[in-house]
This record gives sequence, C-alpha cells and structure tokens, in this order.
Amino acid sequence: MIQREEIEKVRQFQSGEHPVTSLYLNIDAESHPYRKWEVQLKNLIKEKKEGLEGLDFSRKGLHSVREDFERIQKYVQLELEINGTMGLAVFSCSAENFWRTFQLTVSVKDRLTVDRSPYVIPLLAVFNGARKICVVLADRNRGRIFEIVLGHIREHHDVFSNVPDKVRAGGWHGYEEKTIQRHIQDHVLHHLKSIADLALSFFKQENFDRLILGGIKEVVSNLRPLLHSYLEDKYIGEMDIPFESDPKTILKKSLEVERLYMAREHARLVSNLVTVSKSHGNGVLGWENTLRALQRNQVQQLFIQSDARSQGIYCDRCRYLDVAGERCPLCNRDLALRDDIVDPLIGEALARNCQIEQVAPPSELERYGGIGAVLRFRG
Ligand SMILES: [Zn+2]
Repeated sequence: MIQREEIEKVRQFQSGEHPVTSLYLNIDAESHPYRKWEVQLKNLIKEKKEGLEGLDFSRKGLHSVREDFERIQKYVQLELEINGTMGLAVFSCSAENFWRTFQLTVSVKDRLTVDRSPYVIPLLAVFNGARKICVVLADRNRGRIFEIVLGHIREHHDVFSNVPDKVRAGGWHGYEEKTIQRHIQDHVLHHLKSIADLALSFFKQENFDRLILGGIKEVVSNLRPLLHSYLEDKYIGEMDIPFESDPKTILKKSLEVERLYMAREHARLVSNLVTVSKSHGNGVLGWENTLRALQRNQVQQLFIQSDARSQGIYCDRCRYLDVAGERCPLCNRDLALRDDIVDPLIGEALARNCQIEQVAPPSELERYGGIGAVLRFRG
C-alpha cells in the first residue's frame, strides 16, 4: 500500500543538519467555513517566525525553514483541494528538497513544528485508525470499482473492463421466447451478479475493511442482496450517485458515508466501553485509569475524543506518564508539568501496539475527560 510506504519515507527522513518543518492543520469545511484554516495557518507561521532566531540552527537552516513556510502557505492557498477530508499533514525541508503532503479523513489539532526530524506521531495515530474502503458503483450494464485509503481515491479500471461483453453473451443468450421486459430484468440481474462476484474477488485480493455501494437507488438495492456474506460484513452504507461521477465527487460522498457510519459505530463502542467499565469488566475510563492501564500493557483499544486534553508529566527516558507530579518515580528525575500530554500518550499507545480510535466530539466519553480504553486483560 502506497500510503504506508509514504509515511515510512517521512518517518525515516534524515535531514542531516537542516531542520524539518511539520504542519498539521484542521481543514474540516464544516467547522471552518470560508477556508478559515488559511488564517489559522498564517497565525501559526507568524508565531513560529518570531521564535525562529532563538532556535539552534545554522543560517542556511533558518533560510530553509523560511522557504518551507512560504511553500506551505502557497500550497494551502492555491493547491489544496478539499474533498471531504478533514485534516492536512505537510512535511518539508527545502534545503534537502523534501516535501510530502497527506490529506486525512479525521480532523487534527493545528500545529507547526520545526525540529531535527519530522514530527510524525499525529500522522501515525491517524494511520493506525485508518481503514481501507472499497466503493462499487453499478448501473444497469456497467460497474466501476474504487479504493480509498487515507483520503486518496484510486479507480481500478482493470476489474470491470470485460464485464459488458460477458454480460451481453451470458445475459441475452437463450431468452428469445421471453418478453422484452423479462429479458431486461434477467440481463440486469445477471450483470449485478457478476459485479458482486468481481467485488468478492477484489476483496480476496485487496482485503479492504469497508464496502460502500453506489449508483441509482433501485440498482443498488438489487445489488446488495447478491453480495457474498464476507462483503455483507464489510458493508457500511450506500450512496445515490450518478454512475459517471468523477473520482473527487465519489471520494467526497464516500467519506460522508464513512463519517456517518463511524459516528454510529463509535457511539456503540463507547457505550459498550462505559457499560463494561462500570461493571468492572475489561474497560477503563478517564485519564488516570487509562494511563495506568496503558503503562501496564493492558490496553488493547484506546478511545480518545479528538479534542481531549490533559496536563501531566512525561519521562521520555522511562516512558512514565501521569496527570500530575513533579518527578519521575522510576528515575527520580525532575519533570516539568506539561500543558498537554496527548502526544506522548499517543506515542506510547503506538509503541505498545494499541489500536487507536479517535472519536469525534461530542461523545459519551466527554463525561470521563474524553478518554477510555478496552483492556486485553484486567489487572
Ligand atoms: Zn524516568
């Protein structure tokens, strides 16, 4: 999968002596009308520029950072197209001619960092929660298939390229004595059956996590009962959309379908988590309990509302995390209280192979500080 390779390239990027600029920007059109994120970005850059001279980088390094800022600003103003995506990540090191952008299907906290290496934790967290979506479009005699990963859409032209001929040969042959109406019904049904078969073989090959069906309503409603049970398990919704729609429109609509599904799914999972935690089963709620469970390697699935924050301490030597304190109880080192420990928390969760679910607000988690976890075992 290209996305994973791309992320790996960013993670392993070594700039040598030059600083790397990393940007995360919330580009959710619903909460930011009129491309308000452009203003946000301007402010982030202005703030960062003021502190730039104080950073320990060479003249050439600082020049490279200023070029990064310019390029990022130009990209966001002129090139960025929003197709239902909610977050943006950009990594740039102009002196090394390094540039990568990612559009994300969840919103992210606005942040601009300049450091010796790319700041990838938020990107890894999003990727950890990302699912591969397959979209199948059908009309009466054609099919199209798409794959969506992390806000990128790709059409697989090869999958359906030979469908019409097959359908014509198989669908019309031997039905001469029946009425025209009957011919058409058989033809469509036969055609939809072959689409369902091709979708199944595509699934066996690509192993996607979610399936969305699209096309005019009556065609889609005839297609769904023909799906193999493997595909029915992956089905998350359908969309009423013209067959000829361009990929951008399909992406936007698909992400809307996914967002609605995720809202329902997260509500269900969080509600289960609350029930389980309250009955002293395999679940915890709130910052203190979750941090403790995480450090005991108990956490299987971490639920965090995307706007959740907590102050606390973090010892990067011992990987100790707490909501309060002055020193690390393991190495006794003095630690400064941080305004927000979400980043080290996510870093720890990733390092411990936890599944991370970023829940869109509002949610039932809000009553518990926006955080909780399903446990592998109870301590
Ligand atoms: Zn320590």
